Amino acid sequence: MALPKYSIVIPVYNEETNIPELYRRLSAMMERLGEPVELILVNDGSRDRTLWLLRDLHQEDARVFYLSFARNFGHQIAVTAGLNFARGQAIIVMDADLQDPPELIPSLIESWQEGYQVIYAQRTKRRKESWFKRLPAYLFYRILRHLADIDMPVDTGDFCLMDRQVVDVLNAMPERNRYIRGLRSWVGFRQTSIPYERDPRFAGEVKYTFRKSLALAADGLVSFSKIPLRFSTYVGLLAALIAVLMGVLVLYWRIVAPSSPLTGFATIAIAVFFLGAVQLVSIGILGEYVGRIYEEVKGRPLYVLSEVGGLTKGNSSSTT
Ligand code: UDP
Ligand code: MG
Repeated sequence: MALPKYSIVIPVYNEETNIPELYRRLSAMMERLGEPVELILVNDGSRDRTLWLLRDLHQEDARVFYLSFARNFGHQIAVTAGLNFARGQAIIVMDADLQDPPELIPSLIESWQEGYQVIYAQRTKRRKESWFKRLPAYLFYRILRHLADIDMPVDTGDFCLMDRQVVDVLNAMPERNRYIRGLRSWVGFRQTSIPYERDPRFAGEVKYTFRKSLALAADGLVSFSKIPLRFSTYVGLLAALIAVLMGVLVLYWRIVAPSSPLTGFATIAIAVFFLGAVQLVSIGILGEYVGRIYEEVKGRPLYVLSEVGGLTKGNSSSTT
């Protein structure tokens, strides 16, 4: 088969109930494109029948390839692996649960043909997602945008189209904390957004548990901002100021009004706990950064493949 013009990269984790419908809608869309497309499905250590479904699809359809991880490495790593193996001139990343409508892909491609190199889909609406997910997400994107060193668009997920040039840059990045939507902004190039309404999940449970979402948010914040590190400096300065003021007050009481009651146990206890809390939080923030340095330094591979369906890394134009 000639080299595909487009690659579609999809991470899948326990998505057996979505794969048939996903494939149906994608192949309909691919027919309409009329140009060679490859589909790269990355099995992120699923425990259901996902891998069997991927094997079957690969058998039946020459455009379908898959990678399978030896365990669950996480969504961002699964996308990274897909990008490592993709061979297309334009690479599309999307979710497997049909929250990202395949029918939007032609519009992404249109913008690419106009000369944009990163086209990300921006959610204008999230249908049927709980407040419990929407509110923290809403706040997180705005806080991150405020704190980040780079211009980070709000309300964008990983659904996007990237030019070969951009993917080559991403593939060459050695960092392990892969907050892809951040890295994607970081690289620069000509970027634009396409608004869309995010559908509810087609089937199955949300795979991003609250813990995983929190970890992703921490990755995004720590990888793209140093402002949290300054938090302890500011609070420390504030505490020092309060201490000086209190010292002056105590001196005043001692000298001018010796009969006034000096502070009691409660005040001391509050001060001790407050400072203890500030110190622990500061150490925690420091720990987030140091822990990530440790991860980087260990230099372990980003993922372990247990099975590769029809792809070799040599195929991709850049290998890392
Ligand atoms: N996913 C993955 N590994 C994980 C969690 C999720 O590959 O550890 C995939 C999942 O199969 C889906 C995509 O990442 O294709 C987004 O997951 P989900 O729909 O649960 O997240 P949400 O849409 O709520 O952000
Ligand atoms: Mg989803």
